[in-house]
Amino acid sequence: MTLSRREFSRLAAIASASVLMPRAFAQTIASPYQPTTPGGKKIRYCIVGLGRISLDHFMPATRQSTLTEVTALVSGHPEKARQNAAKYNVPTGSIYTYENFDEIRNNPNIDAVYIALPNSMHAEYTIRAAKAGKHVLCEKPMCTSVEDAKAMIAACAAANRKLMIAYRCQLEPTNLRAIELIRNGTIGKVQAIESANGFNISPGEWRLNRKLAGGGPLMDVGIYSLNACRYLTGEEPAAISAYGSVIDQDGRFSEVEENVSWTMKFPSGIVASCNTTYGGDMDGYYKVHGSRGWLMMYPAFGYQGLHLTAEADGARKGDPDVKIDEPEKQRDPWQFARQADYFATCIDSNLTPKMSGEEGLRDMQYMQQIYKSAGLPYLAA
Ligand code: NAD
Repeated sequence: MTLSRREFSRLAAIASASVLMPRAFAQTIASPYQPTTPGGKKIRYCIVGLGRISLDHFMPATRQSTLTEVTALVSGHPEKARQNAAKYNVPTGSIYTYENFDEIRNNPNIDAVYIALPNSMHAEYTIRAAKAGKHVLCEKPMCTSVEDAKAMIAACAAANRKLMIAYRCQLEPTNLRAIELIRNGTIGKVQAIESANGFNISPGEWRLNRKLAGGGPLMDVGIYSLNACRYLTGEEPAAISAYGSVIDQDGRFSEVEENVSWTMKFPSGIVASCNTTYGGDMDGYYKVHGSRGWLMMYPAFGYQGLHLTAEADGARKGDPDVKIDEPEKQRDPWQFARQADYFATCIDSNLTPKMSGEEGLRDMQYMQQIYKSAGLPYLAA
């Protein structure tokens, strides 16, 4: 089985274009992404929470982005805030604390906030930001209850502000390529999906605190598998069943689960089987089995090094068989730059982000069902 020359040239062109022009690449594959800012005005982000994802990924990525910049910070640590303000040319008058956060309302140099706080704080800061007249890009998981998710959507709608959940994989070219191979029938009719994502968590993380995290690995990393099954199939799960367990009685899992395993049946009949854990290294991946072939993304959800492989029989008599081995050519911070730019474009062109508040809400509802089926108390209605 070989990759046809035309297919190979097309992949090569896409890969090189994506390195040089990530936004143009996204426009090609992820329409209706239209990365234009009439008048060249940048969208100015206020970063809420200076932790790992902000400092190591999102903020550096705004420097790669042509449509965004960091103009304000919110932190509870004055020295950390001062150092990072200096790094990003943020004036001291645009450094806020969690207490005086609402004053961002009076700062005309903030268009949007990026919320990168522990999960249970997402709802409060989204609602306060919307009331202050700012658009909101909120990290996943959207929040820690279905009710909070609905309140976040309502607050942004009432303030006529955009709300996007940071599902970066939905903009990532290798994941988009997998979706394309499914939609264009390359692997035939999808029958089944397997996916997993997890890691061995260190003690002391806020992720192990139920009040801050809302739940365990399902909320944190299992959500990638759940969301992937939905974007790969383009369907919403019609039935869900699940199990949870705690194996390691070492004190880490007194408040959240260690393992969750769940299955979903989609309206077309596609079945999906997913696992997540905080108890061991579990590289994020998915494998999709179709009637004419399969595709696998391994790894699927990391910041870099994603790898898509696929094999399928030719669609019609005379068509070449397909064999794809496509390491992604993107490197962090492109994923985060693309996400920052995409939201900027949605704001500027008045588009609803595909990773909207409603998209986040749906995952909250499915996670609620997963926990309920597993007999776990998290996200209880
Ligand atoms: P982190 O612990 O590194 O950072 C959290 C930040 O929140 C810190 O700056 C901390 O000071 C601040 N904070 C404020 N109040 C706090 C409190 N009461 N307890 C603890 N911290 C408090 O966490 P992180 O890994 O950056 O995760 C932040 C959010 O980003 C989470 O919702 C997480 O799910 C999400 N995340 C997303 C991705 C992604 O790829 N999209 C990756 C990692 C994390």
